[in-house]
Amino acid sequence: MSDDAANLSSAVGCLRAAKNVVVFTGAGISAESGIPTFRDSDGLWQRFSPERFATWDGLLKTAVADPRLFADFLIAVLEPIAVAAPNAAHLAVAELERHIPVTVVTQNVDGLHQAAGSTTVHEVHGSIFEIVTLGGRFVRLLSRAEVREIVQKLREAKEAALALPKALRAIHSMLGPGGVSIHRPKIVLFGEAMAEPAWTLAQEAAEQCDCMLTVGTSATVMPAAMLPGIARSVGARVIDVSIEPGEADFPVTGPAASVLPALVRLAFG
Ligand code: NAD
Repeated sequence: MSDDAANLSSAVGCLRAAKNVVVFTGAGISAESGIPTFRDSDGLWQRFSPERFATWDGLLKTAVADPRLFADFLIAVLEPIAVAAPNAAHLAVAELERHIPVTVVTQNVDGLHQAAGSTTVHEVHGSIFEIVTLGGRFVRLLSRAEVREIVQKLREAKEAALALPKALRAIHSMLGPGGVSIHRPKIVLFGEAMAEPAWTLAQEAAEQCDCMLTVGTSATVMPAAMLPGIARSVGARVIDVSIEPGEADFPVTGPAASVLPALVRLAFG
């Protein structure tokens, strides 16, 4: 038996024997829904440097200095999410909970696990759809259709003579002054604290699982990348599904939208 076949078979055994599974996902699980990852060779950070675009300070300075580039960046981030639907990998994760208790912990901000039907989802880097005050108080949820509208208005802003005020108006429902405070999407940019209570609940879930399935994550973004280590420290086995071989007890190499449905079908028929 090849290493891949042996790992797939061990992964199936691990899922069947599990009493408590954590599925820990990263950008790779949404790649086949058309949402690019950040770090891969065609990822977002190749076009837009994280120094300029991954902090609020850098973003605001870019907005003032080059509003059209600011609009380009927002369109590049928001548009794929605005038009995305769950793929076969998200659906397989949702299907898994019909067979065993599953907690989904995701670094993604795209809402696709919930759209696929997963019921317990901890978004440790927040969500593009959840609008909060600067102090973190909940304001409202945006719909995917509203994000599509923002993208459309950003395109118009790029063509306008006064691009900055038009771009700021375009994103007003997501980011800007509102009521008594400035509001913003609840997403975790570089240097910010993890989203709560999701992060605390994610660590608790990792401490209580006996099998962790990591999917489409380079496991390099700290502190989220600590979760597989936490699971291992309590004796859980770790399955990794990625297009690049990952560090895990059972690494299964391949695109998530093909591997995950096969894994769930083999484990539970
Ligand atoms: P990453 O970009 O660091 O790594 C993605 C991993 O997925 C890589 O190891 C890559 O080889 C793998 N991958 C790519 N396509 C795949 C596929 N079809 N099937 C299986 N694996 C595939 O992603 P990360 O570790 O999640 O960290 C990036 C950070 O950026 C996260 O914190 C996340 O918040 C954010 N992000 C989110 C989204 C989203 O919400 N969809 C998209 C991009 C980035």
